[in-house]
Amino acid sequence: MNRQPALFVSHGAPTLPLEPGPTRGFLAELGARLERPQAILMISAHWETEAPAASIAVQPATIHDFRGFPEALYQMRYAAPGAPELAQRARQLLGAAGLAAAAVPDRGLDHGAWVPLLLMYPEANIPVTQLAIQSHLGPEHHRRLGEALRPLRDEGVLIIGSGSITHNLREVGRHDYAASPPAWVSEFNDWVAAALVAGHTAELLDYRQRAPHAAHNHPTAEHLLPLFVALGAGTPEVPPQRLHAGYTYGVLGMDVWRFD
Ligand code: ZN
Repeated sequence: MNRQPALFVSHGAPTLPLEPGPTRGFLAELGARLERPQAILMISAHWETEAPAASIAVQPATIHDFRGFPEALYQMRYAAPGAPELAQRARQLLGAAGLAAAAVPDRGLDHGAWVPLLLMYPEANIPVTQLAIQSHLGPEHHRRLGEALRPLRDEGVLIIGSGSITHNLREVGRHDYAASPPAWVSEFNDWVAAALVAGHTAELLDYRQRAPHAAHNHPTAEHLLPLFVALGAGTPEVPPQRLHAGYTYGVLGMDVWRFD
């Protein structure tokens, strides 16, 4: 079976599929560039639970978990089959690592999951399930989730963490979208990129203390935590690759990373 990578994808605003732009174009080509996975495990910033949880939905619904966007977005569906067997295998791996995960019967795909998948795999014919994050448990917990799930990559499973490399929504609209991002955004993103490539995992896990402007880029941590799942799922000796970089709305980093 082909060995799959783990990815971190910045999903941007829910309107990503409606608006032409470099990240939409990149994601639209990414699915075809990768070896086709048997199944996909999504870890989105938009499903938070107290303790680890996996969806065993047979046919996950498309969740439109946003308000005030164009009607066309609410008409979109991502009708991929669920992956209950993958969810159970993930629960088995997590349980063995001391990270017992609940099975949630009817949890669908939130926009952090279906927006990138709609662009990457528009045919919606690869089984997909979602695993929740626990933002109160911090980066190391999420790195451990990814580490426990790493064997799935050898079972043909593509693991995708979906969040945003920078994510301060209060700053959206305050900047000229066409201009370069403000320094407090690019300095943070550059710090994360350098630490990822250098394998400085301890520093990354402590990013809120060590990275420049960390709290301003992530007033709450949930959009960065899927990165740590992807990092944990990667092989530690193999440097990750920044597949795509860019910004939307001036302050939201749209970076995509690959972990082998
Ligand atoms: Zn989001």
